[in-house]
Amino acid sequence: MKITKVETFQVPPRWLFCRVETDDGVTGWGEPVVEGRAEVVRAAVHVLADYLVGQDPLRIEDHWQVLTKGGFYRGGPVLSSAVAGIDQALWDIAGKHYGAPVHALLGGPVRDRVRVYAWVGGDDPGELREQITAQVEAGFTAVKMNGSGLMPRALTPADLAAVVGRAEIAREVLGPGRDFAVDLHGRTGVAGARRIVTALEGLHPMFVEEPVLPEHLHRLAEVTSAAAVPIALGERLYSRAEFLPALNAGLAVAQPDLSHAGGISEVRRIAALAETFDVQLAPHCPLGPLALAASLQVAFATPNFLIQEQSAGIHYNAGAELLDYVLDPAPFAFTGGHARRTDLPGLGVEVDERAVREADRRSHAWRNPVWRHDDGSFAEW
Ligand SMILES: [Mg+2]
Repeated sequence: MKITKVETFQVPPRWLFCRVETDDGVTGWGEPVVEGRAEVVRAAVHVLADYLVGQDPLRIEDHWQVLTKGGFYRGGPVLSSAVAGIDQALWDIAGKHYGAPVHALLGGPVRDRVRVYAWVGGDDPGELREQITAQVEAGFTAVKMNGSGLMPRALTPADLAAVVGRAEIAREVLGPGRDFAVDLHGRTGVAGARRIVTALEGLHPMFVEEPVLPEHLHRLAEVTSAAAVPIALGERLYSRAEFLPALNAGLAVAQPDLSHAGGISEVRRIAALAETFDVQLAPHCPLGPLALAASLQVAFATPNFLIQEQSAGIHYNAGAELLDYVLDPAPFAFTGGHARRTDLPGLGVEVDERAVREADRRSHAWRNPVWRHDDGSFAEW
C-alpha cells in the first residue's frame, strides 16, 4: 500500500482537515490545525506531503520520526500540528486496513466510556447559572468556564471576587457530586494566579487551567505550591520534551492537544511520561470531529486518562458545529456526560466528504480576538 495523495480542507468554523489517499482505496482523515493559523498549517501539511506521497502509510512511527526531525529545524505549533493531523490520518488508515479501531492497535481498551465536559460562559462568562443548569440537565457531570474576561495585570479585590463569585455559582448549581474547571488562559500574571488558586481552594475545582503562560513555565511551581488545587496546562506545549518542565513543576493534569502535540503517536508518549509523575491526561479539544475522535481513541486506551474536552455548543463554533461533517453522529452522542466506546475501524468517524468539500469552498479566516487594557496596551486573550 502506498500513499498517493494528501488533500487539505479549510472548513468553518475555524478548522482544517486533511485526507490521505492510498492506492488500495483506503483513505484516512486527520485535523491538522492551529486555531487562527489554519492557512499556515495547511501550507506545512503540503510541504510534508512531498515526502509522504509514495510511502507505505503503515510505517506510522518512521514517518513521525522523519516528519518531526527530518527537516533539521523542528518543533513549534505549526509543524507539530501539521504532523499531528497527518499522524491521525495514518492511524485512521492503519485501523481501516487492519479492520480495528485505533484503541485496539494501541493495546486495547482500558475503559468502556469516556467522561467529557462541556464549556459554559464563553470568553467573558455571564449567564453562568442558566448555562450550567442546562448542561446538568443534558447529563454532563463536569463543566469548564473561563475564570474571567479581560484580566488586568494587577487584580483588585473586586476582580478577585468576580472570579470567586463565578466559581461559587458553579459549585452551588453543580452540588458536591459534579465538577467544574476554571481556565485562566494565562490572562493574569503569576502573582494573580497564586491569589486566584488560593481563593478557589475551598470550592474544590477539578482543576485550574493555564495559570501561567507557556513562556513563564519556570514560574509554574510557585502556583502549584500555592494551594491544594490541581493545576492543568498543555494546550500550548507540543512534545514530551516541552511537558517535562511542567511535570517537574508539580503539574496535576496534562492537556496536550491531539491536533497540536504530534498527534496520537506523541500524545500517547506524553501520557506515559505523565503517568510516571502520577499526572492525569485531559486532552485539549475545542476543535472538530477528527481531533475529538483521535482524542477519544487515546482516552479509551490510556490508563491515566481523566476527562475529555469537546466542542459541541462551544462559543467558538459560530457557523458550523461538531456534527456538521460526519455521516453518523453516534460516536459523539454523550450519554450521562460520557462518550461510549465503539468498535468502528480507524478513528471511528465516517466523514461527510461532500459537506467537507463544499465547506472548503466557503472556507474561513478565523482569528482570535485581540484584546486591550483600558490604557490601550495589549492584553492576553
Ligand atoms: Mg484552555
